[in-house]
Amino acid sequence: MIDHPLRILFIAAEADPLVKVGGLGDVAGSLPLAVKHSRPGIDIRLAIPFYPAIRQSGIEVKPVGSSQIRYQDRLLDIQFFVTEKYDIPIYLIDGLPISQSGAVYGTNFEQDAEKFIFFSLAALKLPQVLHWQIDILQANDWHTAISLHAVRKMSEAFPEFASVKTILTLHNLPFMGTGSEKALEKFAVPPCRNPRMPSWAKQLPLPMGINSADKVVAVSPTYAQEIFTPEYGCDLQNFLLTKRTRIMGILNGIDYQIWDPQKDACLKQTFSAVTLEDRRENKRALQNEFSLPQEENIPLLTFIGRMDRQKGIDTILSAIRLLDTRNWQLIVLGTGDKTLEKEVTTLQQEYPEQIRTILRFDGALSHRLYAGADILLMPSRYEPCGLAQLIAMRYGCVPVAMATGGLVDTIVDFSKNPAHGTGFLCAEQDTHCYATTIQTALQIFLNQTDWRKIQENAMQQDFSWQISAKKYIELYHSIL
Ligand code: ADP
Repeated sequence: MIDHPLRILFIAAEADPLVKVGGLGDVAGSLPLAVKHSRPGIDIRLAIPFYPAIRQSGIEVKPVGSSQIRYQDRLLDIQFFVTEKYDIPIYLIDGLPISQSGAVYGTNFEQDAEKFIFFSLAALKLPQVLHWQIDILQANDWHTAISLHAVRKMSEAFPEFASVKTILTLHNLPFMGTGSEKALEKFAVPPCRNPRMPSWAKQLPLPMGINSADKVVAVSPTYAQEIFTPEYGCDLQNFLLTKRTRIMGILNGIDYQIWDPQKDACLKQTFSAVTLEDRRENKRALQNEFSLPQEENIPLLTFIGRMDRQKGIDTILSAIRLLDTRNWQLIVLGTGDKTLEKEVTTLQQEYPEQIRTILRFDGALSHRLYAGADILLMPSRYEPCGLAQLIAMRYGCVPVAMATGGLVDTIVDFSKNPAHGTGFLCAEQDTHCYATTIQTALQIFLNQTDWRKIQENAMQQDFSWQISAKKYIELYHSIL
């Protein structure tokens, strides 16, 4: 047991509102704050890369120090900045591999590897620069996982981490940091030597981090179990089984300040579970904005997410063509894989009266969609937690999702439990099954009393960070 308030350094590749690409940005932007608010004595601080886009946003930062890191036969400079605009200090870390980069996640794997390995090692210099002895280092996904390996296997470089406990939060197992080998060598990071780790994984940041972490937290209890199976384990399942006692699941939450249908400034009309009829105004506004027939009785479906096969967007494309009714509208908001983007556009051409496609990242529009659409389509192939369904439920937009990972942990299937149903789950990873599940939802939509009950049930769930933050705090104390 420690005799001072806990000191935690939380590191991630993105954090809302400074930079957000997907759910990791939501989590890193919310969880440290939620921990701080749950237990004000805890000294938790966040560090992210100082991407050129953040710099260009004009954010006010203060320099807090500098350091250097070995790279081949020379030293690379690191600059540390802080923004004190938020309730916790957020450190922005800069250096050549970061300042030279373009998008947060680029298409050049080797360049991304250099950027994130540099960031992970640079972040380990922060406590020294700040004269701040930390108790816990919490990393997220492959981008920062190498820091956990480094504090154990490069202890001469980072001696002050000898008694620091480490946590790796796992948001997405398949992204392991492909193409990192050369960068690891350039930064003199030794490979993993655990004989139980498959040899192909010994120079991949995520498995290396899993190997060294004191605790690995998957972002939902179901995903924490699924990763031990060949279906979801990405060929690491046998290795993961050797770490079984260190792996657990804690569900993500959502920021109830940002996602609040009663106060949301992005909406045409705010509403709550008791004033659900006001919600219609938002649907009408969407139909108007996207030149769709303004009919209250036509169910409005939406998809909001990355255009990636993980999200099952291709399943939606096939399932839509199988529906035996044309009494629906669909608005797709997403960006990513260009082939999938093109396929969605083709579908729109097939259904010009019913489908609209918006191929960009648009936070404000996502708020309007959650608040105005009737149904969120989310047929993910795998889903470590999923935030879109949590936000949708908070806004009375009923999820029709695949029964996998965090979707199972957060959605009560109306077909199995009509009294408490909060959405619809498709039991099989199969297009026909998913089309049938959409059809069931469309059928129930016709009975507005049942539908309203589902919306109310969904809106009454508690997906705030409070519960998860408490679980993380328990974990912090248990590992010390
Ligand atoms: P993942 O982290 O796998 O991308 P999640 O469901 O956990 O998926 O989180 C996705 C987050 O990103 C949600 O907040 C969702 O609303 C948001 N999002 C995804 N794509 C877009 C987009 N094109 N425009 C606006 N918000 C988006």
